[in-house]
Amino acid sequence: MVSEIVSSMERLLLEVVDFQKSYVERICAECEAPCCSRVSYLFNEKDILFLKLSGRERRWKREILKKKGCWFLGDHGCILDPECRPFICHHYICSDLEMEMNRHDPGLIAVLREKFKVIDEMRSQLWTEYLDEQMNLP
Ligand code: SF4
Ligand code: SF4
Repeated sequence: MVSEIVSSMERLLLEVVDFQKSYVERICAECEAPCCSRVSYLFNEKDILFLKLSGRERRWKREILKKKGCWFLGDHGCILDPECRPFICHHYICSDLEMEMNRHDPGLIAVLREKFKVIDEMRSQLWTEYLDEQMNLP
């Protein structure tokens, strides 16, 4: 059921954020070429569907947001709530971040990869269930 998948995804997203938090705070804060300033708009259709089904409608218009780097990069980092970020922002772990994680907690990357895999499967499941529901609408 869609609402159950959404709740599980929210829980898992917060978990992966929590696992990475101390590393991101330490390593990304010192980064000389932050990935967020090298990209622009990262949302894909599954990210948008998750926002919609979790009651987090996007509140921006694509054509009015034109700036260098990600549209959501503020002076103090990402301005979006963690659950509202594109999935790639959660599962992209650069080599510096990975090295730091491996140094402090050698099993962490494997745990994260497994959780990303589960979330990704849920995203596909959400997409399928949403389309099925749409097909069965009167
Ligand atoms: S994930 Fe890597 S590239 Fe991106 S800001 Fe952090 S340290 Fe920099
Ligand atoms: S949405 Fe947030 S985390 Fe993702 S690239 Fe943009 S600023 Fe970075």
